[in-house]
Amino acid sequence: MISSETKHMQNYINGKWVDAKSGKQEVIPNPATGETIATVTISDVEDVDMAVAAAKEVFPEWSDTPVPNRTRYLLDYWKLLQDNKQELAKIITLENGKSLRDAQGEVQRGIEVVELATSTPSMMMGDALPSIAKGIDGSIWRYPLGVVAGITPFNFPMMVPLWMFPLAIACGNTFVLKTSERTPILAERLVELFYEAGFPKGVLNLVHGGKEVVNRFLTHPDIEAISFVGSEPVAKHVYQTGTAHGKRVQALAGAKNHAVVMPDCDMEKTIQGVIGAAFGSSGERCMACSVVAVVDDIADEFLEQLVKETNKLRVGDGMDDANFIGPVIRESHKERVLRYIDSGVEEGAHLLVDGRKIKEDTPDGYYVGATIFDHVTQEMKIWQDEIFAPVLSVVRVSDLEEGIQVTNQSKFANGAVIYTNSGKSAQQFRNRIDAGMIGVNVNVPAPMAFFSFAGNKASFYGDLGTNGKDGVQFYTRKKVVTERWF
Ligand code: NAD
Repeated sequence: MISSETKHMQNYINGKWVDAKSGKQEVIPNPATGETIATVTISDVEDVDMAVAAAKEVFPEWSDTPVPNRTRYLLDYWKLLQDNKQELAKIITLENGKSLRDAQGEVQRGIEVVELATSTPSMMMGDALPSIAKGIDGSIWRYPLGVVAGITPFNFPMMVPLWMFPLAIACGNTFVLKTSERTPILAERLVELFYEAGFPKGVLNLVHGGKEVVNRFLTHPDIEAISFVGSEPVAKHVYQTGTAHGKRVQALAGAKNHAVVMPDCDMEKTIQGVIGAAFGSSGERCMACSVVAVVDDIADEFLEQLVKETNKLRVGDGMDDANFIGPVIRESHKERVLRYIDSGVEEGAHLLVDGRKIKEDTPDGYYVGATIFDHVTQEMKIWQDEIFAPVLSVVRVSDLEEGIQVTNQSKFANGAVIYTNSGKSAQQFRNRIDAGMIGVNVNVPAPMAFFSFAGNKASFYGDLGTNGKDGVQFYTRKKVVTERWF
């Protein structure tokens, strides 16, 4: 039901909150209760064109603003985000469903990217070499690209947009952001605080909507580069179409992250780590642990304790600290997950913990409990596909060699973790595993903002990841100057 209390999310174009010209809107439910909490305007080509025009108009002035002045606005933005941490975390839990503790973690990780972007003056510096020949100097200079577009997923409404626009804008670009139409509320707050920090209008524009907005970005002649984060099929489409239209594209995609558990691991810490990585944020993380390859020698003991600890997890509204697992994002996603659990049973995996049965009273939200399958094989869909839910598959392997081989057969290669006390095993794992982000006794090996973030294989389309030095390179183009003066 849409009541007068329901918030309405609009686009932000050239310093004004406006509805999409289409007049279309979608309803946003609270995934914990099913109740309508907001409506969001749904944009079309015309709205994108207006936002890009606003960003293009302000680009000459913004790119000409001295780099230290540009980043000084970010210091104020950083402070505003800090001052509003609690409110931001609550919005994330409200619209996404993850527990408040997970949401607070996300807010912190987002703020850390703003911190990174405040060092743009150092990071954007070029190189110079005097006297490359008699009387000739050589140097490299970095310049912004122009208008950049960002497209983000529902699962990190704060952190992922902040991977993009603070650094892009500090580098002198102007930006059009399209966050997930399923989580538009936090996006509004990010934009409000951005302008409270004093940025000139038009530098950041927000356009709500779905694939019509994305597809216009991909062909728009005035968009120079696109940062995308989302599922694999869409990432591939964005990369292929965007690059075919001459744009620079980084497209971070889906995942199926594996952990290899060695007999010499610290059993208790490993179990707590796997539980956090597999079931935290309801498994809706691109770095979630979704497969554990456990070495036979300890498999029975590991599973016995894993099941015992998993059965203690409470499921329910993320606003209540007692609940570890919140809802998944939508009813349709819940149904998809339940179909995967059914398929795992049909394919012959052993269902040790059944998330279809939830002990707590959770009437109208979109809940799936923690689920563990044992004896999973690579032929099963539950091993192959990204389920994006608190569903963990366990594969039994004879040794590290087989654990590495199994992991590398996944089409995805975002993150991978080894639990061991052997430096030799960790070294072998690091050298031979395909994944772009590796953890050694670290449960969710998401790099800090000063390192770059990206996977390999079908988890990433592009060359330069987000954040760190990669981020600065992605948002700038180089000019190499060879100069002689008479
Ligand atoms: P999604 O692909 O459904 O949506 C991502 C964005 O693309 C949204 O803004 C959406 O509006 C748009 N979109 C959706 N369908 C489209 C289509 N057919 N054509 C054009 N645009 C379209 O992803 P999601 O469900 O919002 O997010 C979850 C996915 O994102 C998971 O696969 C997860 O692994 C991935 N993810 C990856 C990373 C990473 O760093 N690799 C980080 C976070 C999330």
